[in-house]
Amino acid sequence: MIRDFLDGHGAVRCARQGSAAERVNDVADVRIREAIAGLPAYKAGRAAGSSFEGTAFKLSSNENPYPPLPGVLETAVAAAAQINRYPDFGSSELIAEIAKFVGVGPERVAVGTGSVGVLGQLMQATSGPGDEVVYAWRSFEAYPIITQVVGATAVPVPLKADETHDLDAMAAAITERTRLILVCNPNNPTGETIGRAELERFLDQVPSDVLVVLDEAYVEFVRDEDFPDSVQISLARSNVCVLRTFSKAYGLAGLRVGYAVADEPVAEALRACAVPFGINLIAQAAAVESLRSQDALMERVGQLVAERERVYAELRAMDLPGRLGVAVVPSQANFFWLRLGERSGAFAAACEAMGVTVRPYAPDGVRVTIGEQEANDRVLDVLRSGF
Ligand SMILES: *Cc1c(COP(=O)(O)O)cnc(C)c1O
Repeated sequence: MIRDFLDGHGAVRCARQGSAAERVNDVADVRIREAIAGLPAYKAGRAAGSSFEGTAFKLSSNENPYPPLPGVLETAVAAAAQINRYPDFGSSELIAEIAKFVGVGPERVAVGTGSVGVLGQLMQATSGPGDEVVYAWRSFEAYPIITQVVGATAVPVPLKADETHDLDAMAAAITERTRLILVCNPNNPTGETIGRAELERFLDQVPSDVLVVLDEAYVEFVRDEDFPDSVQISLARSNVCVLRTFSKAYGLAGLRVGYAVADEPVAEALRACAVPFGINLIAQAAAVESLRSQDALMERVGQLVAERERVYAELRAMDLPGRLGVAVVPSQANFFWLRLGERSGAFAAACEAMGVTVRPYAPDGVRVTIGEQEANDRVLDVLRSGF
């Protein structure tokens, strides 16, 4: 059966690849929008290496190394018994639970298929051809792709030498055409944060009809007291939207749930752009249960933060600036960044040889997720060896 299926599809592909004369119909290729045809593919973090003898680890996607909490897993499995039914269209229980958790009314909350899904909705709701989207670079690699999908123009603003957002340059990059500004805090892949006063000063310079998205995918890992209270900011400023996810600290990357906290008209526009029934039934149930299991989950986050601090103590003790010419910039997230430049590929290959997959962003640097202690130790060994 499967063979027949594959053979059948193989035949279709051959027919497509044949010359125009061999085709069944003699029409031109389907016209794909230029913005889509020129799109760079999203590079997902590579899977853990398979050639390594022994346990291989994946430190390339900032995932949570802990398996789901037993209670969350049970809830997900129980929900699976009802998958002959459509999920709740409005994700009402999940939205109510998120609203209660962040302390706003449910009308200010919108959910999506991961925060990348929510970001796509925000982009559709605000920006199109001719509009400009401002973000720092290097930052989250989904930003340029999502911008291009809607046909808007990306305005990337280089990070400062210390790997932080250049907010003055970002403010200066705003034009009449700017519709959306993305601020990744902490920034992926550098881990740096923007403090309260600095952020407010920046927001003061943004026209009130330009939406600012504070992407807080890693907020649960932040321990810096000066980190802004973004939900309060979104209550005070109608053009600020907070983006969060269940993929990182909550460990539900495989289920795809993210949310936005925004002024009601923005949240409404977001809902209007949603894929109908996008958040599946299992995902809704598991996310609700995760919010109710806050204490157990945040205890794990605390352990990851402690592991991050252990790794940083080792990194600082290694004299990387002296030995490799690489600064160790502080991170408030579950990863760290090394601007290894041209040596990024060599470092990633050396980690791979040790059974650990990291994320090179050649020619800039490498991002390494804080994962299992053994995995982190192997990466530290590679750095000590000079690879
Ligand atoms: C991982 C990540 C996300 C979350 O993506 P999901 O779609 O929720 O899995 C969003 N923003 C940044 C900056 C990230 O690193």
